[in-house]
Amino acid sequence: MPRLEGARMATERMKTVTAEYFDTVNAISACCNEALLEEAVAQCADYDALLSRFVPGSDVWEINHALGKRVHVSQHTATVLSLARQVAEASGGAFNIALGTLAALWAFTSGRTRVPSSEGISTALANTDCTLIEIGPGWVKAPSGMQIDLGGIAKGYIADRVADFLRERGVSCGLLNFGGNVVTIGKNIDGAPWSVGLQTPGGAAGRDFWAAVECSDATVVTSGVYERGFDVQGVRYHHILDPRTGYPVQNGLLSVTAVGPDSLVADALTTAMFVLGIEKGSELASRFGVEFAFLDRDGCVWRSPGLALTICSGRR
Ligand code: ADP
Ligand code: MG
Repeated sequence: MPRLEGARMATERMKTVTAEYFDTVNAISACCNEALLEEAVAQCADYDALLSRFVPGSDVWEINHALGKRVHVSQHTATVLSLARQVAEASGGAFNIALGTLAALWAFTSGRTRVPSSEGISTALANTDCTLIEIGPGWVKAPSGMQIDLGGIAKGYIADRVADFLRERGVSCGLLNFGGNVVTIGKNIDGAPWSVGLQTPGGAAGRDFWAAVECSDATVVTSGVYERGFDVQGVRYHHILDPRTGYPVQNGLLSVTAVGPDSLVADALTTAMFVLGIEKGSELASRFGVEFAFLDRDGCVWRSPGLALTICSGRR
């Protein structure tokens, strides 16, 4: 989440629009007129209608309902699926876009607060071999019954595209926050790097930050246990799932942040890094040239040396 300074955001030059897409609140702030921001928001709707498994007729919906046949897809969808395949391979399967049936069973987005039966989880884990998804020129084919879910990657791609749209229209100062996927355009209104706050897990959304990352023309993506999930008998069941077990990852991590030039890559990586844990997750980030920070439940922080991170008091 960005640490935006209210007074400055309220100046005439910097405008903000918010809209709900991708099951989260999205904010776009930029030094431009409101009409341009409205155009940018409209693009979120277009991308959602392409990449969401919940929107009938979207590319992903068509693939999921094609019973194993080829589906013609847009270049956007093919790009996201290709990067998903690359990160799936590089992470040894920790990142897996074929968990749609499992995600539907856990149903975090619909407010479910019960742990599914172990039989249900085993059943939902069948048909989740994402290496069987074929991507050809302009088409995609997935095994019949497989349910693709781009919840771990689509917001990053969309944030990149909308930021590019604003840059092409002459915007040189802006910040997009799509539910924890932040993209900064240029420097802030004072000509200094943006300071992007990292949400304190369990703290007040948009107000409590455990650290801040300084950056310009970069993305700061965070995946955490606090966004979607529920607690049962002291165990946090959250929306990042271990493809090997079908259960939410329980490795003591509270959040993982990736910082780099590309939000599509950083989004897929944070999800994968969360599943892999600190050691293998850091290796993965380094292979993709991405800076990172892990925060665990004891308040300990593991970070790459190149990350411009300022840790708030009381952290190690
Ligand atoms: P957020 O949606 O809060 O930005 P993530 O980018 O980590 O968080 O994405 C989590 C979402 O990705 C889940 O809600 C689910 O849709 C999907 N998902 C869960 N586990 C995995 C996984 N191991 N690999 C890929 N996608 C996953
Ligand atoms: Mg992600």
